Amino acid sequence: MYCPFCRAPDTKVIDSRLVGEGEQVRRRRECVVCSERFTTFESAELVTPRVVKSNGNREPFDDNKLRRSMMHALQKRPVSTEQVESAIQHIMHTLRAMGEREVKSRLIGELVMSALRQLDQVAYVRFASVYLDFQAVDEFKAEIDKLNIPQ
Ligand SMILES: [Zn+2]
Repeated sequence: MYCPFCRAPDTKVIDSRLVGEGEQVRRRRECVVCSERFTTFESAELVTPRVVKSNGNREPFDDNKLRRSMMHALQKRPVSTEQVESAIQHIMHTLRAMGEREVKSRLIGELVMSALRQLDQVAYVRFASVYLDFQAVDEFKAEIDKLNIPQ
């Protein structure tokens, strides 16, 4: 990184140590030009990206909203709260691991559909029918055909 004193593009690390429980690295650096020393802290950025709605509006990711829509699809279905929580954790992990600051709401919808598909096919169809908003009727019908539910 640039030296904060003289803006020289190169600094060297003269000391590096873990902070606290090891969730952060503290580095002592020295500028190769002006010899000033400074400290940097490095930690993993585990931020859930903001959601970009289809109209372009941005909003913070809300796991309660995700929980509500999944629970709604799972009403009276034989899926435990623990299974739902674990699916939500998995979705959030996927979003954080992407390392993006923003994701399209469509992507989240697809992650939910894929989670529900594994949990319960009826809930999956309920969610997909609302989510796809009946716009892609043929696509939706093809999805249902793939499930092999006796008609
Ligand atoms: Zn410098």
